[in-house]
Amino acid sequence: MRYYGDPILRERARDVTVFDARLRELAADMVETMEHENGVGLAAPQIGESVQLLVALRLADPDDETTDVVVLVNPEILSRSQDTWVHEEGCLSIPGVRGNVTRPSNITVRYRDLDGNEHVVEAENMFARILQHEIDHLNGKLFIDYLSPAAKVLIKPRLKRLASRSGDE
Ligand SMILES: [Zn+2]
Repeated sequence: MRYYGDPILRERARDVTVFDARLRELAADMVETMEHENGVGLAAPQIGESVQLLVALRLADPDDETTDVVVLVNPEILSRSQDTWVHEEGCLSIPGVRGNVTRPSNITVRYRDLDGNEHVVEAENMFARILQHEIDHLNGKLFIDYLSPAAKVLIKPRLKRLASRSGDE
């Protein structure tokens, strides 16, 4: 796992152009890591691969216990709803930090599957939130970027510790 302070988490990941066995293997590794870490989503840069690939659970709401996993390659948000909702988020790359993030309730996403076929998915509520969090990762953005100035002050010491640890590795 790559942690806050690792520059790979701030890069825009490169598009996938080859849909081969290696990509499949990477996706399988990511699903395994996500499940092992009890996460609801994971983006490739979080395990050190700067490519446009994410895995996520298709959760209808925060209490949903589905294990239905989706894999999105080269995802792109086509539209976002005007209405938004606030919910607490965390991130496997920023352990010990949580915070309220406002996001659009519904989004439409175009992506490719592991065979390179194009799809469009409409996501709402928790699933839309997870996809937005993970797509942000592919663009070098983290959920803490959305926190209020006051919340940012509170998490600053924790972020500093994480960043110095990640520099040691
Ligand atoms: Zn994250």
